[in-house]
Amino acid sequence: MNESPNRNHSRRALYYYIAAILIILVINTIITPMFFKPRVQEVTYTNFLKMVDEGKATKVEINQNRIALLCNKDGKDQIYVTGRVDDPELVNRLVKANVEFSQVVPREESPISKFFNNWILPFLIFMVIGQLIMRFLGPKMGGGNMMSFGKSNAKVYIEAQTGKTFKDVAGQDEAKEALQEIVSFLHDPSRYNAIGATMPKGVLLVGPPGTGKTLLAKAVAGEAKVPFFSISGSEFIEMFVGMGAARVRDLFKQAQEKAPCIVFIDEIDAIGKKRDNGSFGSNDEREQTLNQLLSEMDGFDGSKGVIILAATNRPEVLDKALLRPGRFDRRVPVELPDLQGREAILKVHSHDVRISPDVDYHAIALATSGASGAELANIVNEAALRAVRMGRQIVIQEDLEESVEVVIAGAQRKGAVISQDEKKIIAYHEIGHALVAASQTASAPVHKITIIPRTSGALGYTMQVDTEEKVLMTKEELFNKIVTLTGGRSAEEIVFNKVTSGASNDIEQATKLARAMITRFGMTEEFDMVALETVSNAYLGGDASLRCAPETSARIDEAVFETVKKAHAKARDILNGHREKLDELAAYLLKKETITGDEFMAILKGQNPDDPEPAASDAMQKANPDAVQPA
Ligand code: ADP
Ligand code: MG
Ligand code: ZN
Repeated sequence: MNESPNRNHSRRALYYYIAAILIILVINTIITPMFFKPRVQEVTYTNFLKMVDEGKATKVEINQNRIALLCNKDGKDQIYVTGRVDDPELVNRLVKANVEFSQVVPREESPISKFFNNWILPFLIFMVIGQLIMRFLGPKMGGGNMMSFGKSNAKVYIEAQTGKTFKDVAGQDEAKEALQEIVSFLHDPSRYNAIGATMPKGVLLVGPPGTGKTLLAKAVAGEAKVPFFSISGSEFIEMFVGMGAARVRDLFKQAQEKAPCIVFIDEIDAIGKKRDNGSFGSNDEREQTLNQLLSEMDGFDGSKGVIILAATNRPEVLDKALLRPGRFDRRVPVELPDLQGREAILKVHSHDVRISPDVDYHAIALATSGASGAELANIVNEAALRAVRMGRQIVIQEDLEESVEVVIAGAQRKGAVISQDEKKIIAYHEIGHALVAASQTASAPVHKITIIPRTSGALGYTMQVDTEEKVLMTKEELFNKIVTLTGGRSAEEIVFNKVTSGASNDIEQATKLARAMITRFGMTEEFDMVALETVSNAYLGGDASLRCAPETSARIDEAVFETVKKAHAKARDILNGHREKLDELAAYLLKKETITGDEFMAILKGQNPDDPEPAASDAMQKANPDAVQPA
């Protein structure tokens, strides 16, 4: 059995104090006498007289029962003391030896103050140092303070301490509304109690990473003006078995004392995972902690005004017991922001950045479909950094656009050495994508094409426009997307009659799309509306797992091959039909390295792209980087 954390801690403190006492002992008995001879030394009366006679004394002081003699030995003052003897000769002797004498004795250290200075004071100093050390190491060792083992360690925020309010959270209006209700309940529970309404005890914020769950919780603290305990799920299970449960207990005890208040458990999946994963004694500590949490949630009285907020991006792994009524029975989804939400988030984060007033946030929001709040915040910051790098005082549109690309495809790799032959292949590949996209209806227009390599490994990419936010895609649009993805490779085949590894990313995406059309979107006649795949963790990449018989699986593969092959053939047809444009555009891209959608369209329409024509820069859509991966 593991040792309890409390004992471990007190033992550590005990060792510390034993060491402290040993050090003080050594200093007092060995070091001090060796280096600091006592200035006051006791001598016999005979020796005292001898010193006076030998003329060593410089001064003598006498009081009722003690005599002190000051002499100068090797340039150092030294005091000798002796008991006073009834000696009538003494005064004569002193006069004879020509020693100055008087009636006062130098103040000697009292034994009590000596004991205090040499023993008690050093020990007190050690104790203070010990407390400081424990306090600094405390959070890491899970200790807090030496005197408070097993404390929950939750940070307590009160009112404006988080500095966040709902104003800092852009988009997420539904989530804010749901949380606003909780805030107003905490302000005035009686209003709710009067009508007989009870607040849920627990509220679970679910959504993909970076959508602002933690931020929302902090904003609730800022709005609610009640104590706010914040702790991360992983903090419960750091060191010892039993510690997590102890912390949960302590956290709830503190919370009930401070009610009304909010307890926020971030990343609750760290402790809240399903317990029935079969393996024997899988994770004792986690289970204990979870059980403690469950029983604490049942134990407290919700009408007192303690509300538990929790956040996770893996709601599907949570133990069912956590989600049943009376515990986390309210779910607040915090989804990826939509077009308006993205625009609002960009604006919130640009607030403290010196940014040009004519920046078009809408265009950037359009370009970043699928980006989370955290990514958008990052884009604004990258843009500001770029502005500084460029020696500008102010952030302009170009900075934002470039940083969108940096976030999507990585920074430009200016130093990369790519041979002219390879560049030519890359140029044809990208124009292949763009030309196929432009030649199809129901396909997002081209915004930008570049063959400047990126640190992510992309050798070039084609950005496509969507003029507005899309939430639905038709079967035709999906198929056209696959055709566009195969366009790069098709161009290589047609022009160079050989294939390269440069299409690996396209291949992956095309396959994924084709598969999803069949297994998840019900877009084939053969399989109709049957779900053949289920997506497990929707918020983290969304891995799909097949749910069908092996024969069905084989037929699905068949259908995927067919779809991709059909798309590939269509792309080749399109490019063969535009062979001259393909050459012309590729040559232009090779020369310029980066071209805009307007230049692209101009050449396609047979105009001169270098005509100075003020074309409105329109929005872009997700880039489609071409990564090279070793086969
Ligand atoms: P999560 O906890 O959901 O993973 P966070 O709350 O930690 O995400 O968000 C990380 C950062 O992203 C925040 O500090 C904030 O700067 C930014 N952010 C995310 N969502 C939003 C939003 N809706 N409004 C403003 N900023 C946001
Ligand atoms: Mg978080
Ligand atoms: Zn490609």
